[in-house]
Amino acid sequence: MSHVLKLGVSSQSQMLPELQNLLELQKTDREILRLNEEIAALPKRVAAIEQKLAGTKAVLEQAEAAVKADDAARRKYESTIQDLQQKISKYRDQSLEVKTNEQYRALQHEIDFAQQEIRATEDKILDMMVSAETREKQVKAAEADLKAETREIEKEKEEARQRSAEDQQQLAEWTAKRDQLRAGVSADLLRHYDRVVKLRKTGLSEVRDHKCTACQVMLRPQTYNEVRSGEQVVICDSCQRILYFDPAAEVVVEKPTTPARRRPRPKADAPQGWYYRPEYREHGEVLLGFSNANSMATRRIYDFNTGRQIGDIVLREGDYHLAFPEDFSGDYIRLNGSWNEAEVESWGNEMPMNALDSLHADLQAARTENSRRHSEPAEAAR
Ligand SMILES: [Zn+2]
Repeated sequence: MSHVLKLGVSSQSQMLPELQNLLELQKTDREILRLNEEIAALPKRVAAIEQKLAGTKAVLEQAEAAVKADDAARRKYESTIQDLQQKISKYRDQSLEVKTNEQYRALQHEIDFAQQEIRATEDKILDMMVSAETREKQVKAAEADLKAETREIEKEKEEARQRSAEDQQQLAEWTAKRDQLRAGVSADLLRHYDRVVKLRKTGLSEVRDHKCTACQVMLRPQTYNEVRSGEQVVICDSCQRILYFDPAAEVVVEKPTTPARRRPRPKADAPQGWYYRPEYREHGEVLLGFSNANSMATRRIYDFNTGRQIGDIVLREGDYHLAFPEDFSGDYIRLNGSWNEAEVESWGNEMPMNALDSLHADLQAARTENSRRHSEPAEAAR
């Protein structure tokens, strides 16, 4: 079902470099995208600061206009007072020449009235002097803000300019690299890669644990082997990405360690199973204890060094191999160990020392056997 792109050059050694080029190309494309986004974002950042600056400028202008308006009003009030004082002295002159008491009283009334008006205007001026202090403070604060923001924007602009220049230079370098990499990939494969990138953002996917890591779909064994061999370019049936396999990234023990003569062989169909895992989620080294009973599977996790139980006991339907598939991928070693369910139950939160010791000893035996069997120099040296 998975299809294989037939390429002009089909010798084994030609295929991998092409995939290597594609991997590099993917990195390069991502870097180019990042740089373009950064270059586009810089003016926006400057514009945002400039907008804030315009706001502060408006506040300052408002405060200055208010001060000006107050000054004008004050001058007006002062001239009103002057006018009233002139009126009063005119009334006083007239009152010296009046003939009747009635006329005198009328003038006196005018004078009183003008004096009242002067007092009212003086109050207004006084009020204004009090609010002038506040206005002065507002102007000073706005001026200081404007100065600080102007300084900041100049700095930001300069940084943006420098960053932009650096980005442009990097972009030119990456673009040149991209052209070079594209030249190292056949036209068919490149076309496919471009099409998938357009559709799904990435054109390649690593295969790990028999899965396409991009779409998480399990590969058929034949497809997996094709990818693993690195002899062909293989496309994921489900997401169309070009699959690659990185041997350095995969740590797989396909089957439980095959036991040798001196070590008893853990029975595959035993109702209880003990496993050592060197890297289990965030817990590091653990011991897993499984048991089957009444068509239910139970799992307990213990810290490898202390024997202390980690998390809760988990119960699932069915045989433990099938009920906990996630625990049987990756690196693990099957160990010898058999305690009846009631006994394991009685341990509570901690495995007893003798049980822990026996599992540790069996792991040691399994490792020794393993190194003897493979007789690899590095292993044998231990
Ligand atoms: Zn896929």
